[in-house]
Amino acid sequence: TVALKDVMKVFADGTVAVDRVNLDVGQGEFMVLLGPSGCGKSTLLRMVAGLEDPTSGAVIMDGELANDLPPRERGVAMVFQDFALYPHMTVGENIGFPLRLSGVDAEPRAEQVAEVASALGIGDVLARKPGQLSGGQRQRVAMGRAIVRRPKLFLMDEPLSNLDSGLRAELRAEISGLVRELGVTTIYVTHDQAEALTMADRVAILRKGVLQDVGTPTQVYGRPATLYVAAFLGSPR
Ligand code: ATP
Ligand code: MG
Repeated sequence: TVALKDVMKVFADGTVAVDRVNLDVGQGEFMVLLGPSGCGKSTLLRMVAGLEDPTSGAVIMDGELANDLPPRERGVAMVFQDFALYPHMTVGENIGFPLRLSGVDAEPRAEQVAEVASALGIGDVLARKPGQLSGGQRQRVAMGRAIVRRPKLFLMDEPLSNLDSGLRAELRAEISGLVRELGVTTIYVTHDQAEALTMADRVAILRKGVLQDVGTPTQVYGRPATLYVAAFLGSPR
């Protein structure tokens, strides 16, 4: 679980990127962080990952204050929009790389890689290099590499925004299916309303660093907390 208490981020130039956000993400929950460009989504996610320090407030993970925990000790895995695969390694080596780093032997490693790859529908391209894959396949490899170590928390920052709309729809279903199957707690960032409403257990809507509303897709769409949320989601009036 993750709990954010009055989390604030003010950058050196005075930009208030995140303004006293309070948010709880439950065990196994798929939380989508939704809002327009510049509203602070990535900054908030980076503070959860430990890549950015909050100016004030607390990031609590599994009940413990995590503010001073380095990223590698947080049990998080993160996938970005511009995911970088290792071009000289095969798909299998890419997915297995985090396991190799943590000293898992070749045989169990191959088993775990095969399991994750087949769940992601890329079991048949393990021997290829990233340059021989489609964009959607590359994104699946990046996801596989992120989750192969079974993180406690899976963070995704607009992982589908570089893909065409057909592929986006396909991968939406795949990602939410996969993370639910694994039962891993997930925070997924997007500026796409349809993506948020179709994938989320709950949606958290940000505007200019301020949390506007949190609830199930039905709640935030049907009973938006503010006029801004209603307009942003296109809720019926
Ligand atoms: P997008 O959808 O475009 O990715 P976002 O919601 O992820 O946007 P952030 O990247 O979190 O937004 O940025 C929030 C605000 O903080 C923006 O005004 C941005 O310009 C500002 N910002 C981000 N990083 C820094 C930085 N290192 N220094 C100063 N301001 C920053
Ligand atoms: Mg961003």
